[in-house]
Amino acid sequence: MFILLFGPPGAGKGTQSTLLSERLKIPHVSTGEILRAAILGQSALGLQVEECIAAGRLVPDTLITDVVAERIGEPDCANGCILDGFPRTIPQADALDEVLTQRNSSIHAVIQLAVDMKELLERLSKRSEVELRSDDSPETIAGRLEIYEQETSPLIAYYEKRGQLRRIDGMAPVETVSQRIIEAIRDASKQSD
Ligand code: AMP
Repeated sequence: MFILLFGPPGAGKGTQSTLLSERLKIPHVSTGEILRAAILGQSALGLQVEECIAAGRLVPDTLITDVVAERIGEPDCANGCILDGFPRTIPQADALDEVLTQRNSSIHAVIQLAVDMKELLERLSKRSEVELRSDDSPETIAGRLEIYEQETSPLIAYYEKRGQLRRIDGMAPVETVSQRIIEAIRDASKQSD
């Protein structure tokens, strides 16, 4: 089962993906985490993306698609995974379809976490104090939210048209959001039966 967790930076994708991964017993695949680990390990990939990430820009579509194709080809993803932070552009979504079709699989549900701008800014500014991420500085945060609007939010209509999008209020308490995600996934299962 491939589930996409979708929403702007600070919407709670990471937290909810972790909870969902425990519940569904499938891995949590966060492209941001994979890239940050590559930077930390100073691998060829890390060196390639370091500047882009620190500036809050998206890394190239072909590069991130290859990273995801490789990761979801690993044995622990045989039964699917939760994709957090991918796809982020229409070409990435098209590429994901191709990768999944090749393995006779498809997207089960796309969960959109909706959080208003004021709350996002508060969460991201709090996170910058705790996690010390290179891309959580005030200027970079504004840029990342803008990139989300321009490049990523068109995916809402993309998946809505396919009847796969489930919108969840990401402002509710963490446990409530988690429960609603589970219900949305169950609902998607009923529809695909
Ligand atoms: P995240 O942890 O998901 O907020 O991702 C952190 C950063 O990694 C983003 O701001 C991008 O620079 C990069 N990144 C993660 N996922 C993608 C993606 N699907 N496409 C392009 N860049 C990505």
